Amino acid sequence: MPNKTGPQRYPGASRDRWYQDDFGGRAMEVNVVVLHTTEGRSLPDYQGGALAPNLTAVPDPAAKKLKWYQHFDIDVSSRALRNKLGGVETNTLNVCQAELVGTCDPKTHAKWKDAGKAHIYWPQAPEWALLGVARFLAWMHIEHDVPLRGPTLWPAYPKSYGNEGGQRMSGAKWNGFKGVCGHMHVPENAHGDPGAVDFDRLIKLAKAALEE
Ligand SMILES: [Zn+2]
Repeated sequence: MPNKTGPQRYPGASRDRWYQDDFGGRAMEVNVVVLHTTEGRSLPDYQGGALAPNLTAVPDPAAKKLKWYQHFDIDVSSRALRNKLGGVETNTLNVCQAELVGTCDPKTHAKWKDAGKAHIYWPQAPEWALLGVARFLAWMHIEHDVPLRGPTLWPAYPKSYGNEGGQRMSGAKWNGFKGVCGHMHVPENAHGDPGAVDFDRLIKLAKAALEE
């Protein structure tokens, strides 16, 4: 059982909401990044950490930057995926999970827009926000060998809920997967986040960030 090779803290990430002391987690050798959207506008409490990912990216639109919070080491299992008894492993299957604060739901986006509430609608994320995620993926590639590739189907929410978009992996495919995917691709889960993010652009930016 390999464990915890490489740096465990994403540079610059705050540890103000560190949950590993409360929830432990399993040591792993990460080869997958799972992206989520929080469907909220601020750093969630995650029920005191009980449903927390490894990291959360909080957009700061004024500074045009993502502020990162780290909740668990990179190579320690976190808690934002559903896992059924039996079947495949999810949270503990060598995945590092990142929650992006904002929404993938066009209805929520319209509601917040009408109310004048600043937010990121991730399917139409501004370049600076995509770049913030891309830099994280580049770091995960360099330090943890996570391949900069992923599924071809990134259907829009709500089609991505369940498996309406045909995007969700089978257990066998998931067990063999290495790269970057969304919550909506993970088996045993129904959530449709992060929806129609511009994955090609994200990977292009991540590859460009390797040169930095
Ligand atoms: Zn999710």
